[in-house]
Amino acid sequence: MSKVIANNKAEKFEDFDIAKVRNIGIMAHIDAGKTTVTERILYYTGKIHRIGEVHEGTATMDFLPQEQERGITISSAVTTCFWRDCRINIIDTPGHVDFTVEVERSLRVLDGAIAVFCGVGGVEPQSETVWHQADRYKVPRIAFVNKLDRIGADFYAVVDAMRKKLSANAHPVQIPIGREADFVGVVDLIEMRAYLYDVDEEGIQYRVSDIPSEYIEEARKWREALLEALSELDEQFMERYFEDTITPEDIRQVIRAKVISGEFVPVLGGSALKNKCIQPLLDAVTWYLPSPLDLPPVVGKNPVTGEKVERRPLPEEPFAALVFKILMDPHAGKISFIRIYSGTIKSGSYVFNASKGVKERVSRLLVIHANHREDVAEAKAGDLCGVVGMRSATTGDTLCDEEHPVVLESLAFPEPVISVA
Ligand code: GDP
Repeated sequence: MSKVIANNKAEKFEDFDIAKVRNIGIMAHIDAGKTTVTERILYYTGKIHRIGEVHEGTATMDFLPQEQERGITISSAVTTCFWRDCRINIIDTPGHVDFTVEVERSLRVLDGAIAVFCGVGGVEPQSETVWHQADRYKVPRIAFVNKLDRIGADFYAVVDAMRKKLSANAHPVQIPIGREADFVGVVDLIEMRAYLYDVDEEGIQYRVSDIPSEYIEEARKWREALLEALSELDEQFMERYFEDTITPEDIRQVIRAKVISGEFVPVLGGSALKNKCIQPLLDAVTWYLPSPLDLPPVVGKNPVTGEKVERRPLPEEPFAALVFKILMDPHAGKISFIRIYSGTIKSGSYVFNASKGVKERVSRLLVIHANHREDVAEAKAGDLCGVVGMRSATTGDTLCDEEHPVVLESLAFPEPVISVA
């Protein structure tokens, strides 16, 4: 059908290039729109599979029919989807302050996050709590200012509040076009082009166009501010900025490096409810958030000798994984969700639960998509998946190769088993 399907879905899960994996969470103050943003992400990424369509800058139907709008929702510890050539694993991150332990647990297994803010409410006390938790775990972040269609929404005020209240080095990489009910899209400050959403009787039409003339000056001003902020963080970049030889790819690369080092937060905006600017947000996930390869090795201890052990996200290293959530599923039974830090795990094999000192059977390996499950033969370093068959595993346990035992550093989480209907 399309090259997108050929690029990822048809390819075997286990052959996927780990550099193209993004393990992300979506974090937000309650009511900022986390659920709506997640649903839209699953819709647009799912649409690529169903219709075999990818946006390349031409007019694309963006209409979200009612019946599809309902029923697409994140229902799992981790949901896997595809955007362009990347596999995005979305880890369910509770947003409510009461679930601090759960939030911290999910922060432990994700590599990056989208922080969603309400364009009207801005940085609220709860967003501060979650933000500082993410700081503690050094989670690289991009920010999405949602609800720009609402009365009173102010993109720039939210950027300002992020700087003041969160001490974030936050800078727009897009600026909004139109305000409130007239919000129609954004200017991308890197490519200097506009993403526009026009509503007609058929729904919402999405297109990439030149910057509307009345926004050119403003866009130049913000682009300059962005490039100056990046120059302050990177001398080489500064030199090239002065020489005027910067390309969009250079800008994206330096943003990515500074997001990963925690020195920079790119800010995007849109309206999830009105289906505006979710595609540029997905592009930003693939451009700026790290792959498992970009992060330092994970640290643990040999439970026998007490020696420090480091594991890198390579399939040829001995297997090591952390159980981060247990769900009771009416069909599959107990599913233990794991983050694999090194090596590979095979369906039908046994692994060693180093935390409990027992062997565990791996009857099935499951990858959960928005609307279906996939049985896979093998999963490897950098991935997240569900394991069926393990009896003793509880949240926080380390699974490993018995010959190369390791207990990964983990939070002490007392874990109730959560049932899902
Ligand atoms: P959550 O609590 O963060 O998961 O927020 P939800 O996604 O449930 O959204 C909270 C409310 O805000 C719901 O009534 C949504 O319909 C609404 N909402 C979400 N995104 C937008 C948006 O972009 N614009 C407007 N006007 N409302 C939105």
